[in-house]
Amino acid sequence: MADRYDVVVIGGGPGGFRAARVAARRGASVALIEKQYLGGTCLNWGCIPSKALLAAAHALLAARHAAEMGLDIPSATPNWPVIQQRKDAIITGFRKGMAGSAKAHGFNVIPGRAVITAPGRIEVQGESGNTSLEAGKIVIATGSETTLLPTIPVDGRTVITSKEALSLPNIPASMAIIGGGVIGCEMACVYAAMGTQVTIIEALDQLCPMTDQWVGRLLEREFKKLGISSLVSRKVASVDTSVAPARVALEDGTTLNAEKVLVSVGRRAVVDETVAALNLRMNGRVIAVNDKLETSVPGVYAIGDVVGTTYLAHGATAEGDVAAANATGADERMEDYDMVPRVIFTFPEVASVGKSERQCEQLGLDITVGKAFFKANGRAVAHNALSGQARVIRDNATNNVVGITLVGEGATEYAPLASTLIGKSDKVTKIIFPHPTVSEVLEDAVLDAVGPVLYGPPGL
Ligand code: FAD
Repeated sequence: MADRYDVVVIGGGPGGFRAARVAARRGASVALIEKQYLGGTCLNWGCIPSKALLAAAHALLAARHAAEMGLDIPSATPNWPVIQQRKDAIITGFRKGMAGSAKAHGFNVIPGRAVITAPGRIEVQGESGNTSLEAGKIVIATGSETTLLPTIPVDGRTVITSKEALSLPNIPASMAIIGGGVIGCEMACVYAAMGTQVTIIEALDQLCPMTDQWVGRLLEREFKKLGISSLVSRKVASVDTSVAPARVALEDGTTLNAEKVLVSVGRRAVVDETVAALNLRMNGRVIAVNDKLETSVPGVYAIGDVVGTTYLAHGATAEGDVAAANATGADERMEDYDMVPRVIFTFPEVASVGKSERQCEQLGLDITVGKAFFKANGRAVAHNALSGQARVIRDNATNNVVGITLVGEGATEYAPLASTLIGKSDKVTKIIFPHPTVSEVLEDAVLDAVGPVLYGPPGL
């Protein structure tokens, strides 16, 4: 007889794991099926390994700039095998932690590949054979994989994806990165710091094209200081791997040589035979869901990268909360996706929440943009982190703060604080910002945007 669970979650990435934990805490019997490693892309090939490498890169750059702070550090060079070992140890440590957390929260982790055979019925293809499960509710959290380019095949050696880029055996002399989005830019920072000659080729007219133009331009300027060349509004036509280094030809006729070519043009949802039997309604290439995260099949929910809403781990967990609550009798909704902070861990970092200036323009909002700069902030200057700024958007019709972007060292850590400042303009007056902290850049930018609303025009 098939084992029966109230909720079966497919995929043990951040979305699925959170959904399983929340459903179990709400009293449901829960199984989580994972075909590879707990933690999914985020822990094993995404957020955490990239941040481990970025942390090493950051420390290396800090050591190289130490003389500016009066420190004599004669040589700072990367020991790549140790950097890799540290990264791998961090991953395996958290994997173990997640297995322990599943036990502590009272849900079963079943290793194997899940295939939904009918609504409420799942087959798990495990190493020791197949088992069948019955599920009251199902949460699909199968994640995403790298989008590939048909004309530039990945061979895993010269032409690679972010997965290989996180575990290269050596620091390459040169790297061409096709795609200047979040992942491409983060990997550019890692390898530029390690001494690789990095070139980013981005088809659109700015780096990180989902951000406002000033952010892309600021990153481009800062990347130049790291030795990264950014070719925007340029497209790669072909890559010749029959020569070493590979020859990368751009559509405008120019060529460049690169020991490694990283393809980083986005992620696509994993929608495969796992869910084929359900014949789910799709929204383009991702699974269509309503604001309760329920798919076109009642009782089947989908969250995270497979629904293509945020492509962020914390977006997946936020959706996991809602889906798990709804799968266990609640009536919750994902309300405002603008409030999922958009974070980029480049040098300098970027954090945005609420609406961007571009979105406001598209919506036809009449806005005021307040600004403040890292070079005018005591703590940032003390830390030798002079590049960066905060911009705060006020909607002039309501006088509410509708969007905040912070670019600068450590910016991502301020995303939750920025979230609390979205809304009524007097929210900033309810918070006491400790001095001297970088958070004061946010306070200054909010006051620059809403000061006239709170205190009247300057000079009165
Ligand atoms: P995933 O994490 O992809 O997990 C899906 C899981 O489902 C996988 O473990 C897979 O093995 C399993 N699975 C699939 N099919 C089946 C099946 N049939 N049966 C059983 N198991 C199955 N996001 C951030 O927020 N911050 C960052 O700093 C960040 N950095 C990133 C850096 C890189 C290089 C990459 C690639 C991504 C990064 N992301 C980051 C994105 C983040 O990793 C994803 O948004 C997040 O992992 C999505 O979570 P998920 O639960 O939807 O899916």
